Amino acid sequence: MNVAFIYNDIYRNSLFGENHPITEKRISNVYDLSKIIGFKNVKYYKSSIASVKELSIFHDKDYITALYQAEKKQKVTLENMKKFNIGTTSNPIFKEMYRRHAVATGSLILGSDLILNKKFNYIFSPGSGAHHGKKNKASGFCYFNDIATCILYLKKNNIKKIVYFDMDAHYGDGVMEYFKFSEDILTISIHQKNLWPRNGDYFYEDNFISFPVEEGFNDTKFKDIFEKKIEMKIKQFKPEVAILQMGADCLIDDHMSKLCLTNNSMKFTIEKFKNLSKNIIVMGGGGYNPWITLRAWIYNLATLANEDSKLNLNSKGKDFLKNIKWKKKPKQNWLNEITDLPNIFSL
Ligand SMILES: [Zn+2]
Repeated sequence: MNVAFIYNDIYRNSLFGENHPITEKRISNVYDLSKIIGFKNVKYYKSSIASVKELSIFHDKDYITALYQAEKKQKVTLENMKKFNIGTTSNPIFKEMYRRHAVATGSLILGSDLILNKKFNYIFSPGSGAHHGKKNKASGFCYFNDIATCILYLKKNNIKKIVYFDMDAHYGDGVMEYFKFSEDILTISIHQKNLWPRNGDYFYEDNFISFPVEEGFNDTKFKDIFEKKIEMKIKQFKPEVAILQMGADCLIDDHMSKLCLTNNSMKFTIEKFKNLSKNIIVMGGGGYNPWITLRAWIYNLATLANEDSKLNLNSKGKDFLKNIKWKKKPKQNWLNEITDLPNIFSL
């Protein structure tokens, strides 16, 4: 099955700041390693930057203008800092702050167009997934909410039923709360209980499932919840498009959460969705350990493209993993294998 991998090199040298948790090259690494692996079923597309008109599908005009001005001037007034929550430690002013997030949105618009024009059923956009962004405020490293914009864009283009599934460790509040009362959008978030933004209380309705889980949440428990509480809801809903936010901070060895999933849970999720929705958009999200994040998203791409067989890395692939620099030392298997062990699933 062919997959459109949508990318833009703006991510390569873009940094939120020296000490910011978002590591440099986390998106370009996925692109580069995928090229080394050489997937046959993956076609590459360059995303363009979303226009103001496209960003306005979800965001307020004065917020878009404020972000644009902040990038241009590389500073923000105290008034705008308070009003729009930019220029803070979490959402700093940096060189590509507007363009980077407008590109992440443009990527999902292009992905949507490829689905709408029946060119592809599977879209992969690791640079997208800013699930905390509000229509007039930045939040939790998210400036433009590319996901909410994409959902509204698909709706405008007559896609009636969309399922949003968010497995990032943090509650996907920017998307979940906005679409809470939309009958034609099924929103689902599984996240660590009481983790920031701390407002993802348990909720279990036909169109809205918010599932806080305890620390130590693992693959077995994930599989159990998915099969007993979620799969049937999606089946009944009959989505035309599934949007998967695959934030890798839910995985074991990511320091931003205490969830203990392995990347096999992500593979499991994508395989399930292949039987639940004709069209699937897989994106990134959180993920702060560069090896864990990269391996998970490469595994997602391989799963989507049905090319798991390509995951035995050659020396070039292993060297690529070895050359990643970070504040912590990698475990040996992070440098040699894409898939986490143990794999509890027999798919
Ligand atoms: Zn997160």
